[in-house]
Amino acid sequence: MPAFIWTDVTEVFRKTTRAMVQVLGGDLGAAWQLAPEGDRIFPLAGCHVPKDLLGKFGSVSLAEMQLLVEEASCPEGPICSNDVENDPRFANHPWARLIALKSVIVAPLIIKGKSFGGFIIAWTRGRHRVTDEEIQLVEGMAQTAAIAVENAQLLQELKTRQSRLEKLLEASRELSPIQSVGSLPGQIAEACGRLLDSNSVGLHLVEGEKLVVSGTWGDVRETMPTPRIKIGQSLTGIVAAAGEPLIAPDLAAADRLLPEQREAVRRLGHRAWLGVPVKVGERLVGVLSVRTRGERGLGPEDLAIATAFASQAAIALENARLFQEAQHALADLKAAQEQLIQSATMRALGELAAGMAHHLNNLLAIMLGRLRLLLSSAESAAIRRPLTIVERAAMDATEVVRRLSRFARVQPTEEWQPVNLRELATEVLEMMRPRWQDAAQAQGIRIEAIVEGREVPTVVGNAVSLREVLINLVLNAVDALPAGGRIVIRTFGEHGWACLAVSDTGVGMSDAVRERAAEPFFTTKGPKATGLGLSASYGVLQRHGGELRIESAEGQGTTVTIRLPIRSIPPWPSPSR
Ligand code: ADP
Ligand code: MG
Repeated sequence: MPAFIWTDVTEVFRKTTRAMVQVLGGDLGAAWQLAPEGDRIFPLAGCHVPKDLLGKFGSVSLAEMQLLVEEASCPEGPICSNDVENDPRFANHPWARLIALKSVIVAPLIIKGKSFGGFIIAWTRGRHRVTDEEIQLVEGMAQTAAIAVENAQLLQELKTRQSRLEKLLEASRELSPIQSVGSLPGQIAEACGRLLDSNSVGLHLVEGEKLVVSGTWGDVRETMPTPRIKIGQSLTGIVAAAGEPLIAPDLAAADRLLPEQREAVRRLGHRAWLGVPVKVGERLVGVLSVRTRGERGLGPEDLAIATAFASQAAIALENARLFQEAQHALADLKAAQEQLIQSATMRALGELAAGMAHHLNNLLAIMLGRLRLLLSSAESAAIRRPLTIVERAAMDATEVVRRLSRFARVQPTEEWQPVNLRELATEVLEMMRPRWQDAAQAQGIRIEAIVEGREVPTVVGNAVSLREVLINLVLNAVDALPAGGRIVIRTFGEHGWACLAVSDTGVGMSDAVRERAAEPFFTTKGPKATGLGLSASYGVLQRHGGELRIESAEGQGTTVTIRLPIRSIPPWPSPSR
């Protein structure tokens, strides 16, 4: 049975036919429905129709049934014949050839002014005189049947609509949990495809002046020659530009298609196209586009469903965006907090160190003064030797204190001047050659050190402090190369920053060491080291409005990168002296 015939409708036809035959005392009755194209009829019900005739009605084309088509399809009302055998209208009628009819009433079933099907009541054993009352009766019964059919259709429509609303509800339930943007566009396209029974759905999202394919379902990618289109371009772009939905009932004929799109549409057999804007309030965030195939077109109801779904999708997308923003904000906050803690710790330590350095300096000055006096008066080598050792230790202590006080210098006390990082690097490597080349050679190892990379814009800074930073970094690199290796200083630019990276192929750091490396006094080198190299460098960079970043892994070498803002004025005025 063809798909457009609903069981409930068949029941209406069957009952009406039987009632007509009974009430009029006819010998047989039959009912049929017109095919939607209007060129064929399908038998729906029969009453006392001989079994061998049952199938034959359906095989008759309407062209052969002029009378029924022209008169019963769109007539003023029922037509009848009291004497079919002598009625020229029926003389050559195919039904009359199939069965010997004596009298007949044919009544159309009209729905919304159009013929939907009809009934025939026939007398075969003897002639019957059809009265006006009988005609009226048949007409009335056909009208009642029409109402019942209409109701059955409405019921069917309601059922379809209800199931679609249920699907819509389910789709929005699927999209409602807050999630990151990631797979959401694809999920939206899929849910929309399931909802509208389409296996070709695309979701474009707005990015500046463009629409970018962000989620797809089914074969839709084949119809999209480029991943991004301009707003206003192609059908999707028109929907975006107008902010209004659009239906193209015959996609292959739509004049806004690109030639390769048209080719794909033909190849894939797409028929209708529907696009709806996805909006958050008045702001357009994207366009959902749906395609159908074969018989299935797209109508106002699909549009209503797609629009409802698009607003759900918009909410899901907006939630995802807000979620992502919140996460970024949280990460920024955490970083800022860490920075704050770091700089507060540094300042406190700086003050502590400044105080300490001051006192120690005074004490050391006294010790050294006395020592030197003693040394100048001591004659016995047995006394001079230990005194010399004490003197050297005291001088080392002075050096530690000097470094401490330098670290403690939270406020700059030096002049600001233009500094060329590349030149500075070359100069430092040259100056430290005895340390990295000669000393290494003396220990039978080989260290190679070079400057590479491009010229970077001049920064404003304090050359002395920056040179110390570089010295610290190179010293650390040398320390990390007990078996020799390579040190590379690379300079490069990066959006408003001049950068310099010191890399070594040395022992590297564990995560735990890397995290603490810039802490003041943190060292893994035992008592001879101060643990102030990186923290002091960190302080210098902070005073310059720059940054210091350490990348390292155990056994994989280390890269310490410093970044300085490219600007022509110092971060604060030089202090007056
Ligand atoms: P110090 O050199 O006096 O130990 P720093 O502040 O310069 O102090 O460095 C702190 C710690 O960070 C070092 O003890 C070492 O463990 C680690 N470190 C620094 N630079 C490097 C490097 N290039 N390779 C491996 N470890 C390093
Ligand atoms: Mg160091």
